[in-house]
Amino acid sequence: MLIPLAAVAPLAPYDCCIVGTGPAGITLALELAAHGQRVLLCEGGGFDLDPESQAIFQAEVIGDPYHDLAYFRMRFFGGGSANWGGWCRALDAIDFEPKPHHPLAHWPIRKADLDPYLEAALAMVEVDGIPPDEPIPGGEFQRIHFVWSPPTRFGTVYRAQVVEHPAIHLCLNANATHVRADDRHVTGIALEDFAGGRATATARAYVLATGGVENSRLLLWSNEVEGGRVVKDARTLGRYWMDHPTFTLGDFVTFRPFEGAYFSLTPARQRALGLLHCGLRFDRHEHAPVADLVDDLATVAPELAGWLRRHRDGPAVGGGVLRASWEQEPRPENRVALSPREVDRFGVPRTVLHWTKSPEDLVTVQRTALRFGAHLAAADVGRVRLDDWVLGQGDYPLDDERTSNHHLGGTRMAASPDAGVVDANLRVHGQPNLYVLGSSVFPSGGYANPTVTIIQLAFRLADHLTAAG
Ligand SMILES: Cc1cc2nc3c(=O)[nH]c(=O)nc-3n(C[C@H](O)[C@H](O)[C@H](O)COP(=O)(O)OP(=O)(O)OC[C@H]3O[C@@H](n4cnc5c(N)ncnc54)[C@H](O)[C@@H]3O)c2cc1C
Repeated sequence: MLIPLAAVAPLAPYDCCIVGTGPAGITLALELAAHGQRVLLCEGGGFDLDPESQAIFQAEVIGDPYHDLAYFRMRFFGGGSANWGGWCRALDAIDFEPKPHHPLAHWPIRKADLDPYLEAALAMVEVDGIPPDEPIPGGEFQRIHFVWSPPTRFGTVYRAQVVEHPAIHLCLNANATHVRADDRHVTGIALEDFAGGRATATARAYVLATGGVENSRLLLWSNEVEGGRVVKDARTLGRYWMDHPTFTLGDFVTFRPFEGAYFSLTPARQRALGLLHCGLRFDRHEHAPVADLVDDLATVAPELAGWLRRHRDGPAVGGGVLRASWEQEPRPENRVALSPREVDRFGVPRTVLHWTKSPEDLVTVQRTALRFGAHLAAADVGRVRLDDWVLGQGDYPLDDERTSNHHLGGTRMAASPDAGVVDANLRVHGQPNLYVLGSSVFPSGGYANPTVTIIQLAFRLADHLTAAG
């Protein structure tokens, strides 16, 4: 049921107040309502893209070149699902595990804790299943699989279910400006609309599902307003922020029938090499870069180059560009901070995002790509020509994708409050009734696109909240 802001207080209290209607918030609301809970679902925007709401996402980025955060994020019903690409894959077991070489890149839960929710999560994005990884001869690499959602636009596909559900009250243009708290617990969420209307939402439990940047921003500002009573140990709040660096690494030619376009190191090799996770993608295209690459090859492997020239138009020869998306190491200096100068129309400081790639981030992609090039040559199925920056000469190219727009970390999940903001149940450490949902809780991000994992977390949180009350 749609309700106006003025009805929020008279209709309270709710079992759960959820802020944000992206894949996380909508999944959680529907699941809690299915379990008989009364849900208030607050969305800052309306049903459609609106410049007034979108302007609240304006932010400054300090560090490496990054995307415009007000353009790529979507601030209306359905959230980021309005422009996501629909690439789906769950995180791998190794992404959750402790890693001796990267002590911060692990979760306090395991993949097995999220597995029971995979099928339901895939159903939300209209996908049947993800084929298992397949080792390939040579032992070092495996073929990996992504699957594609249509892509599901949550604001369209689930709008009727949300609006017509008697247990869900949806309040649009309800901007959460801060979380209110006393010394014991959270007492409400302050909401404001674009016409100056104000209300406080009250509920038994509160869930922030405002996206991978806003979750940190809202908590940082709430802590300032409430004198540190919201996130009582805020040492990691906003920090350990990550994305998936995404770049073209070079080009390739293959000269054996070459099935499959996505690869990663096997978990065993990744562990042995002490590397973070890197997904390689072969974007095949018809011969364009092949001629050029074969000319290069002719200087070092004239016989092979001659063979390729003779067979260039045959079915066995293919070529294209090699791309990668990979895991960033979690570092405290990569963080969401509040602007000391600029506020949005509600008086909330704008985001300043500090984001750089580290030398270790470069090592992850360099070593994986070099090993894969060597693997292709050893198996005699193809050759890769890596760009200079991958070989350690020069900087990352500026005219490339740069990142995947996956906003990870900031309110990381950890067993103790000195290491993260939320516990294994997504509850803010030290707060009995405040939860954070979304990729901001990822303490490590693998290379997989995050939305399937976010939805798995939403289903798991619904189970926890239902069992709790
Ligand atoms: C260009 C692009 C392509 C992508 N492609 C993929 C892909 O192929 N595969 C994949 O897995 N992921 C992809 N992603 C990431 C994906 O969009 C996110 O993982 C997903 O949207 C996160 O869902 P969420 O519900 O946590 O947050 P969001 O979708 O960001 O939703 C947050 C919601 O909170 C609302 N909100 C924010 N602040 C407030 C506030 N103060 N008060 C009230 N409401 C508020 C927003 O309006 C929004 O509705 C892509 C992202 C981008 C930008």
